[in-house]
Amino acid sequence: MTPGPSGSNAASHVAETLSRAQILLDVVTYSPEETMAVGRELAAHLPPRSLVLLEGELGSGKTTLIKGIVAGLGAVREEEVTSPSFTLVHEYGRENKVYHVDLYRIEEPRELATLGLEDVLGQQATVLVEWGEKLGDPAPTPCIRIRLEYVAGEDRRIIVERLEA
Ligand code: ADP
Ligand code: MG
Repeated sequence: MTPGPSGSNAASHVAETLSRAQILLDVVTYSPEETMAVGRELAAHLPPRSLVLLEGELGSGKTTLIKGIVAGLGAVREEEVTSPSFTLVHEYGRENKVYHVDLYRIEEPRELATLGLEDVLGQQATVLVEWGEKLGDPAPTPCIRIRLEYVAGEDRRIIVERLEA
């Protein structure tokens, strides 16, 4: 079948999207401990100064995964990582600095401006952003996007993608 004009538009959109996003990992975990273990392993493979956007509904495991990543980066121990839902930004570690941002309470792009995220992104640090989709489109690239999905009970799907500029 020869694609018509709309077909080729769709095809070029697919091609463009596929070239931007590359799936690095797609796994299901069966406990919070297992999700943290995935986070520690991910940390070992993150390029320095990575920007990591985490997406997924409340309770899907974003903070739990971040505990593992932060511990894996050697910034602080897992139990010292808590959700910055009210303060919006937490800073961990000294030499290996990690910023943990939670945009849950951000309702409009205008509010982002008051957060000083540019300063955070300009640091020699790994930046982990819960509700990363609220950074808007296009997100700063290159970056890593992690989507978490509630499957059932304690089962969570974790999809890690690399987004290229
Ligand atoms: P979010 O930051 O996405 O709102 P949290 O990490 O704060 O999510 O909460 C996830 C909740 O789900 C925690 O209470 C955690 O104990 C529970 N949980 C159960 N199974 C898992 C799993 N496989 N991975 C991550 N969290 C899980
Ligand atoms: Mg959270």
